[in-house]
Amino acid sequence: MFVRAREVAASVLQCFVGSPRTWRFEPPTPPGPEELAAMRRASGVEALVVHASYLINLATSDDALRRRSEALLGATLEAASALGAAGVVVHVGAQRGADPTSARVALVATIRRVLARSHVAVPLILENSASALFGQRPRDLGAIVDEVRDERLGVCIDTQHLFAAGIDLRDDRARTELVREIDELGPLLALWHVNDSASPCGSRRDHHANVGHGEIGQAAIVALMSEVGRTEADAVLEVPGDGGGPRLDYVLALRAALGSLGDGTRL
Ligand SMILES: [Zn+2]
Repeated sequence: MFVRAREVAASVLQCFVGSPRTWRFEPPTPPGPEELAAMRRASGVEALVVHASYLINLATSDDALRRRSEALLGATLEAASALGAAGVVVHVGAQRGADPTSARVALVATIRRVLARSHVAVPLILENSASALFGQRPRDLGAIVDEVRDERLGVCIDTQHLFAAGIDLRDDRARTELVREIDELGPLLALWHVNDSASPCGSRRDHHANVGHGEIGQAAIVALMSEVGRTEADAVLEVPGDGGGPRLDYVLALRAALGSLGDGTRL
């Protein structure tokens, strides 16, 4: 993965530890700290972010699923810590057919248990949901972090998920409201997922497109990131490229467009 990161000149690398679609957790044996540092230096990667499994649902009301989710997230935090990761990103989860309050109460309790059992310092970063039911707005994530009260928590904003949840980044008024909410997060904003959308606004579909080749467009995405006050959050592209992930020209084009953010935001 470091080789691939070098090919596209990435400063921030996001990866999974183990398969994101099975419950079996078999992370690769991490290289030793010195070897890891050497690999990073050679690749130009400055920050490594781990994405937790897609199977994890921290807001579920199903006890068996919740227990599996807690165990897998705990193991992921440990593996991420061993890799010297800057954080573990996890989706906020959902409850089918339930009211948002019940999902939110379950989520807060689950996060508290995971963090109480975890003895590693690696940040846990909550990502906004693409569904229009729960955890889709920055202020929802901020409220959850406030309630859990643990210094290891942070927030990730995925531009495609905002759009899928019905927040139209292309509209100046919607964007102004959004920027205000993100600014209220302050230093909690740890990460951007910079993705265009293959589905229309409000579709509730987590369906990413290459930036500038989707329904949102590069201008609106760059406008949002530029209008937000915090410039120290890292950014990751989760786009298909030609099928093999972000391409070098996409990374360079977006970095150039975001140039006004200065050196704070690494991509
Ligand atoms: Zn994402």
